[in-house]
Amino acid sequence: MRVIVVGAGILGASAAYHLARAGAEVEVIDAAHPGKATMAGAGIICPWASQVDNPAWYRLSAASAKYYPDLAAALVDAGEAENGYRRVGALITSEKPEDLVAAERRLRTRHNDAPEAGTISRLGNAEARRLFPPFRDDLEAIHVSGAARVEARAFSAAMLKLAAVHGAVHRNERVSLRRERDRAVCIGADGRKIDGDVVIVSAGAWAPEILGPLGIDLPIAPQKGQILHFGLPGVDTRNWPVLLPMNSYYMLCFDDSRVVVGATRETGSGFDYRVTAGGQKEVLDFALSFAPGLRNATLLETRIGFRPAGPSYLPMLGPARRIEGLLIGNGLGAGGLTMGPMAGRLLAEHALGQKTSLPLGLRFLTTASSAAARARAPAHRRRGRPRQSR
Ligand SMILES: Cc1cc2nc3c(=O)[nH]c(=O)nc-3n(C[C@H](O)[C@H](O)[C@H](O)COP(=O)(O)OP(=O)(O)OC[C@H]3O[C@@H](n4cnc5c(N)ncnc54)[C@H](O)[C@@H]3O)c2cc1C
Repeated sequence: MRVIVVGAGILGASAAYHLARAGAEVEVIDAAHPGKATMAGAGIICPWASQVDNPAWYRLSAASAKYYPDLAAALVDAGEAENGYRRVGALITSEKPEDLVAAERRLRTRHNDAPEAGTISRLGNAEARRLFPPFRDDLEAIHVSGAARVEARAFSAAMLKLAAVHGAVHRNERVSLRRERDRAVCIGADGRKIDGDVVIVSAGAWAPEILGPLGIDLPIAPQKGQILHFGLPGVDTRNWPVLLPMNSYYMLCFDDSRVVVGATRETGSGFDYRVTAGGQKEVLDFALSFAPGLRNATLLETRIGFRPAGPSYLPMLGPARRIEGLLIGNGLGAGGLTMGPMAGRLLAEHALGQKTSLPLGLRFLTTASSAAARARAPAHRRRGRPRQSR
């Protein structure tokens, strides 16, 4: 079986890895757009603390968080020890004591079915600051020992490298798709046809553009995130936990004395690849409010990523209706570095004709004639609920 994977963020990289390891002939094609979400993402893996209560979202997130340690161990066994995954725990905190009570209740309930979340314990401020020294001196926290963080650039690169070991070919190219009879055909930048039994489109926020000519109106739009990296020279931050203050912001550390603070959520941003004054201020205000100990840190860089976000923020995984051999993975939104490894595995299982480890969410995909699609406005400008294909 020959599979073309269009888009090699965390989702496409995982699909390629699982397919190639299972013996499929794989070609991965990635345009490396500026703002590729996987290159900018933070990498917090702690779905058990999330306030998102949609069962489909939680099921995939929790399954992927559970799968991560096994997958990371498989990468290590195959020679990819520097894959960026580390179980460092998380501190959940809030300025509102009642939110912390609700968070602890939610965590303990979810923990019943997810022992991999580890130990859940209430910490006083001194204990919290011992784990995360820049933390402010007036808040308590809940510690979740099983939480992890992943440096997604390294993790995706490790999966792609091992896919190549199993024979996958990787190309840096921007491709398009064309419908020929009932099949999707992949077309290279030079107009050549790239044949495959299955085409997986894991093209993130850019997917509507490539699926439109097939008559697929994917309700996905880029949601820009600006995320700041600080350096603390000479400080060993490797085992500092993730800090989650129960709003849309957070902090985590990378291994090289780096504290990463995120992020803006700019719905309706389009592909505006700029660091803005407002974005910097928003994230800096949060950083210095929750971690005043960062006041003297070096501001190293700001990364920008476009989260592939749908109207319901739910993952969209499954085959397109009425187009043979076309599989779509998208909609991972703000949780894609958590969900990506399992989501990619599910796409690979489906492509291989296997029973998938979890059900795929097919209902968001919709197909129409190419002429109708051409007549429509771009998906990201359209409003309303996605139509259901089933
Ligand atoms: C600031 C920020 C912080 C985040 N933090 C977290 C976090 O802490 N935890 C978490 O779980 N998630 C987080 N996320 C979300 C996560 O990063 C995304 O959901 C995830 O990376 C999406 O992966 P993807 O593979 O679907 O898309 P992408 O990583 O965007 O990859 C899509 C790829 O498809 C390629 N492509 C598109 N069109 C074509 C074409 N025509 N031809 C060839 N290639 C094409 C693009 O060039 C790109 O490389 C964060 C995101 C951002 C922006």
